[in-house]
Parts: sequence; C-alpha cells; structure tokens
Amino acid sequence: MKLIFLGAPGAGKGTIATAVSKEYGIPQVSTGDLFREAVKNGTELGQRVKGIMERGELVPDEVTVDLVRERLSRPDTAAGYILDGFPRTVPQAEALAGFQRLDAAINFKCGDEVVISRLSGRRVCRSCGAIYHVKNIPPRREGVCDRCGGELYTRDDDRDESIRNRLRVYREQTEPLISFYRRKSELREIDSAQSVEDSIRQLRPVLQALRKRS
Ligand code: ADP
Repeated sequence: MKLIFLGAPGAGKGTIATAVSKEYGIPQVSTGDLFREAVKNGTELGQRVKGIMERGELVPDEVTVDLVRERLSRPDTAAGYILDGFPRTVPQAEALAGFQRLDAAINFKCGDEVVISRLSGRRVCRSCGAIYHVKNIPPRREGVCDRCGGELYTRDDDRDESIRNRLRVYREQTEPLISFYRRKSELREIDSAQSVEDSIRQLRPVLQALRKRS
C-alpha cells in the first residue's frame, strides 16, 4: 500500500504513521525525521536546512523532492510505504505523481486548539525519535524514553513562535493538497481530535478496503 498522510502539524500523522507502519509492516518515510537526522549528523544537507527548520519554514521543493525520490528508490519501499510530512506543497505533489502511483492520501483532521496543545506538550526521544506528550502520552519516567531509555527533548520548532509560523505555512501551502487529492479521488478523511487509538480504529477499515482493491 502506497499512502500519504496529510494534516496540520500536531494533527497526529507522525504518531499514527509509526503505529500503522508497525501493524502493517510497511516503512514510514518521514521527511521531517530525515531532515532532523541530517542536521544531527551535520551533513551538507543538514547545514542547509537547519535554520529553515528552526524558523518553521519549508525546505525548498527541489531539495525535498530529491531526498524523497532517493528514499523511494530503495528496495524496502517497493511494496508500499507511508509518506509522513511529504508532500507539503502542490509542486511537491505534482512531482511525486510523476514517479509514483499512490493508493490513497489520508487527511487527519482536528481543530487548532488541539494542534497547539499537542505541539507545545510534545517531547521527542533524542535517540530513537519516539514521540510523547507531557499530558496525553506521558513516558513512564519523566524525561526518559520508555522504548530505549534515551533523553526526551522539546523540538526547537515546537516553541510558540515557530508553532504559529508552521500553522500559517500549513494553511497557505499544504492545505490546498486536500482539494488536489480530492480531485484525483484519492482522498480519505479521519477525525484525529481524539486519541491515537481512536484514529487507528477509524483507519483500519479504510486500509482494509484499499488492500482488497489492490
Ligand atoms: P511537523 O510536526 O511540523 O509535521 P515535521 O517533522 O514533518 O514536522 O517537519 C519539520 C520541518 O521539516 C518542517 O517544518 C520543515 O522545515 C521541514 N520539512 C519536513 N517535510 C518537508 C516537506 N515535505 N517540504 C518542505 N519542508 C519539509
């Protein structure tokens, strides 16, 4: 199954993608994670995108499309994948359509208040990337990852000013993708205002129907 997950920052795509990826055995390809990895390793790409990410702006389309094209050329994605955080602009979606055939674009919907409270309480493991929330998904020990014992931190772009900027960028550049995929009849919608489990419960029948079709 070749899926893309759409939704505002904080709508839950990343957390849900991790769970679905495990349950269905298909890799999760998160451009945000790939960029953060590059920044952490201090590669040329990392140096180029560090400031852009801290400000909550978007990395240029050509850079992002090249990264995804390379990632999707590796054999582990041949049978399927979940693209999490890509595409984020109409030109990225058009570029993707030029080299991949998708099964569906899943849009995770939830209101602004939910998004802001999720982002400002989000904590991420520095070692394995697992996502927590101080109230909704607390780790067993404060500041420590349940999975690997790594240190939990607040992403630089999960601070107030960047959050507002990311929501603005989402509205201007990413939201138009909803009608883009609706026109292609590839859009499915999930209400992600409740828990991760609730979103996955809504998603299962959708994925089953897609599987039957393919
Ligand atoms: P979010 O929680 O905002 O969905 P991500 O982890 O997906 O965060 O992305 C973090 C940052 O990485 C973005 O704010 C942006 O700077 C960069 N980024 C990730 N994916 C893309 C993309 N498809 N196009 C451009 N920039 C991207």
